[in-house]
Amino acid sequence: MIEPGTVWLVGAGPGDPDLLTRKAEKLIRAASVVFYDALVGPGVLELVPAHVRLVPVGKRSGRHSKDQKTIDRLIVEAALAGECVVRLKGGDPAIFGRATEEMDACRAAGVPVRVCPGVTAASAAAAGIGASLTLRGLARKLTFVTAHARAGETLDLDWAGLADPQATLAVYMGKAAAPEVSAGLIAAGLPGDTPVALVENASLDSQSVFHTRLDLLPIAARTALGGGPALILVGQAVETSRPQPHPATAAAVLHRVSD
Ligand code: SAH
Repeated sequence: MIEPGTVWLVGAGPGDPDLLTRKAEKLIRAASVVFYDALVGPGVLELVPAHVRLVPVGKRSGRHSKDQKTIDRLIVEAALAGECVVRLKGGDPAIFGRATEEMDACRAAGVPVRVCPGVTAASAAAAGIGASLTLRGLARKLTFVTAHARAGETLDLDWAGLADPQATLAVYMGKAAAPEVSAGLIAAGLPGDTPVALVENASLDSQSVFHTRLDLLPIAARTALGGGPALILVGQAVETSRPQPHPATAAAVLHRVSD
């Protein structure tokens, strides 16, 4: 299934091992070495056979991890040594997954590299709230955006382009920047009562879901989220499953803050 000397970038999905594609599972079983990210679910790692070398190269902001160039070098060296290399990444490798750097490094070294797609966090988050990311007539566009700023840099996003009332915005890595996301979108014209859903640990048993509105997003992100990866969904489409009307949700958020 994997030619020795080849690298496969494999999407591990959002965490639930049952959301792994059959192809991803076959590749994991056929590998001789698996380099994996911190966001790869523990249930997925359990599928890696005992004889396969399992190497963490995890990146979670703020924690010690290998830098991208080191990861590029490790996978290339393993392939050049004749290993069957799987590079396992959370979600889909092609969405905020630094896949291009790794593919470029492989190609520059003459190492064949292939990609197995995965279920991205936004899809799992939508499933988690029981809503659709698009909505006929109300959300005709879906934008995936990362709100992660490089160290020392401020978040520089095209707020005017993102503040589209007819779109759903899926914000990856947005927990720390939630205040900027809220302020930026509102300043660009998106109403403060635009529905927002926060989904942490989507697809895992520890999944938690919180509904709020755009102007309350900063408070909600600070109080409702724990230490897990979280996705922020913004737009009319994500409101469909909300059990309470806006004022009650707002009151609930403010109540939690004053506790
Ligand atoms: N390639 C990944 C995204 C990597 S960026 C994908 O396609 O899903 C990492 C960000 O993804 C996290 O900061 C978080 O915003 C989001 N994320 C990843 N897994 C998640 C999960 N299980 N639940 C919620 N958000 C998740």
